[in-house]
Amino acid sequence: MSIRYYSTNRYLNDVAGINPFGGKVSFKEALLAGQAPDEGLFVPDSIPKLSLPDVQKLKGKPYWETALLVARAFLADEFSDEILKSVVKDAYNFSVPLEEVFPKAYLMRLDQGPTASFKDFAARMMARLMSHCRPQGERINILVATSGDTGSAVGESFKGVAGIDVTILYPGREVSPRQKKQLDTIGGNVAALCVEGKFDDCQNLVKQAFADSSLSKFNLSSANSINFGRILPQIIYYIYAYAQLAQAGEEVIFSVPSGNFGNALGCEYARRMGLPVAKLVMPTNENDEFPVFLECGRYKKVSPSRACISNAMNVGHPSNLARFFELYDGTVDRTGYVHRYPDLEEMRRYIYSISVSDEQTRKTIRSVYERYHVVLEQHGAVGWSGLEAYMKKTTGKKLAICLETAHPAKFPEEIQKLLGLKLDLPEGMKDIDHRTGSAISMTNNYDDFKKHLQKNLKVKE
Ligand SMILES: *Cc1c(COP(=O)(O)O)cnc(C)c1O
Repeated sequence: MSIRYYSTNRYLNDVAGINPFGGKVSFKEALLAGQAPDEGLFVPDSIPKLSLPDVQKLKGKPYWETALLVARAFLADEFSDEILKSVVKDAYNFSVPLEEVFPKAYLMRLDQGPTASFKDFAARMMARLMSHCRPQGERINILVATSGDTGSAVGESFKGVAGIDVTILYPGREVSPRQKKQLDTIGGNVAALCVEGKFDDCQNLVKQAFADSSLSKFNLSSANSINFGRILPQIIYYIYAYAQLAQAGEEVIFSVPSGNFGNALGCEYARRMGLPVAKLVMPTNENDEFPVFLECGRYKKVSPSRACISNAMNVGHPSNLARFFELYDGTVDRTGYVHRYPDLEEMRRYIYSISVSDEQTRKTIRSVYERYHVVLEQHGAVGWSGLEAYMKKTTGKKLAICLETAHPAKFPEEIQKLLGLKLDLPEGMKDIDHRTGSAISMTNNYDDFKKHLQKNLKVKE
């Protein structure tokens, strides 16, 4: 039976303004559409099962072999094995270090890709899958709203991919100078728009464009974390780390610094595929809507979101919460309104969450360096701090793996200030200061944005 995808909003027939989508689509359709027609998120109607002996066999094997196992499990009905193999081999041509911090506690560094962020993992695989499902002779135009890292990971991933153009929108005053440089200089088929406004303004412009039928000839598609094509690749590294580090059948704890919850969702799916994950730790920064919910059972988004030093996680209502709720029999819409509460007991059984302050984040960067000589940046430090908090609450010593989601050299001021270190950028980013290119300035007015799209986007290949 092939896997089909339905919308998290399919039950919402009582809500004004939402016309629920009750159908199911293929992976390819979900990949190109990005979100469901009712603005819900696509979720698979069944989750394939892993064979643990097959996972164990991946020990010592290159990363792409784990990627192929997961890709086959979800996609074998829609893509040939030849395509899947070429996609994963081409996407994953960089290393995935697993660093021991102390016995049985590891850091998985997801920061060796072209933009030194874990988002490379999802974006590179998604771009390559998309190029294999374009309508004949037509172009696809990707619109991405980014608060920083997503945009450059997506842009770099699609760079040079045939038949696909990318337009990135970012809030001019909210990205770091280095992030701006990264976004502005990709070039080629990737354009950067520097928007006067906040991340939310960028997101609104993109959402309006998707809803605008007069733009449909451009085959607009999204690459934000709402696309299931971004979630699927994020299942892979949990299985990879387990295969490399665990004894047969051993239980594992993962800690995942969380913003929009797409990364943690990958772990949730990996567990449901059969990976023995005892606990998924999901630390957030001071945007504490989720840990507060797990504690007290009521959900209230943080609005406006709080600005923390782990800025890629400044999210007051995580978009992938809709998928988490769905998996635990609940429904929440994109405004943050809960239509049906999930099974809280079940959620608490598998998930632990805690809010980590900026002060605690900085303390963790310092203490982990002093005690273990391991350098974290602020997102990974939120993850590590959450893991420590969880370990304090529990007895017994399980295998624990924390994800580092960006390279510390991307935050030179913070690391210099806290640790007195000057770090080298990873290979793929070494030339960053010498790159050239510039952004197009854009207001946060939809009509201006629409005019720009109509003038610049191409329809045919
Ligand atoms: C995007 C991002 C996160 C948050 O990931 P989500 O999938 O949105 O929860 C964490 N760290 C870094 C460096 C990021 O870029």
